[in-house]
Amino acid sequence: SVFVAGCQEEAKLPEKSVFKEDETVQDQEPLKIGFAMDTLKEERWLKDRELFEQAIESRGLEVEIAAANGDDALQIAQAEEMIQEGIDLLVIVPHNAEATAAIVHKAHGAGIKVIAYDRLVKNAEIDLYVSFDNEQVGKLQAEEMLKLVPEGNYVYIGGAPTDNNAHLLKKGVFDVLQPAIERGDVHIIYDEWTEDWAPEQAFAHMLEALEINGNQIDAVIAANDATAGGAIEALAQAELAGGIPVAGQDAELAAVQRIVDGTQTMTVYKPIQQLSERVAALAVDLAKGNAIEPTASINNGKSEVPSVLLEPIAVDIRNLESTVLADHFHSAEEIDGME
Ligand code: BGC
Repeated sequence: SVFVAGCQEEAKLPEKSVFKEDETVQDQEPLKIGFAMDTLKEERWLKDRELFEQAIESRGLEVEIAAANGDDALQIAQAEEMIQEGIDLLVIVPHNAEATAAIVHKAHGAGIKVIAYDRLVKNAEIDLYVSFDNEQVGKLQAEEMLKLVPEGNYVYIGGAPTDNNAHLLKKGVFDVLQPAIERGDVHIIYDEWTEDWAPEQAFAHMLEALEINGNQIDAVIAANDATAGGAIEALAQAELAGGIPVAGQDAELAAVQRIVDGTQTMTVYKPIQQLSERVAALAVDLAKGNAIEPTASINNGKSEVPSVLLEPIAVDIRNLESTVLADHFHSAEEIDGME
């Protein structure tokens, strides 16, 4: 048959041309991108994983993905393994902004560039940082809460102190609240970080805030929807859910449901598709040695990091349909009371 004849012919090729053929095969090998994620705990990261994989593969490249379950040593080991396997570029969502600097040094030692995805790596010369404007996320939360509650007792439930985003969010919130705090209109009666963004800890924080203040709380700003969910459970336990405005971020399905139900006031929507597409396009350019055009420059304690910051969008019941639903981030069928 034709197949057998072809095989025989190939077997007879002289050594030199076999070598040449090997070289051609190697030239055609697709570039491989490593994606070292922190966690898949919050719903958004499942979207990040899926959309980033699609965005890389649609460009004809390969992607290797690992998630570290919030474990620094594991994240470093996973990234090291990718580097040893010969990835061409590393994209990292750091669990710990400081600890992951070790990975950047290892990658650079192997001639591999590193992009920080969504979260900044500190004190290392990373090649690019792509995220949403996290200070703006905090500002959007505080602006909406100030409109609803221009005077009163505020609770701030922060994110993980090991995540640079948590610090940026907090800065955005307090930049907006500061004039009202100085006027004596707004009182910050509780302000705590939440280890690893754990909803259970946010729940405990909220219970504590209620207890300290004899339930005299007028507004709650939580760093993301996971922590907002924990806080709202505590409010529900005190029979206050729906009576006190709560802000979150991520536009998680559960949060969108709470917005429809009236127990959460607003969230901040970050179109993950935009982030994953942008990083994929930039990763390909960096891996190929093409020039890239950052839109900002951010000091990470070590260098001025070329950065690209995307726009987050404030979402409440009024614009839910024109944003989160219009983008098919979630569908109306997934939400009770929306059809
Ligand atoms: C992200 C948030 C996310 C949080 C917890 C932050 O760095 O920006 O979108 O909710 O991490 O995973």
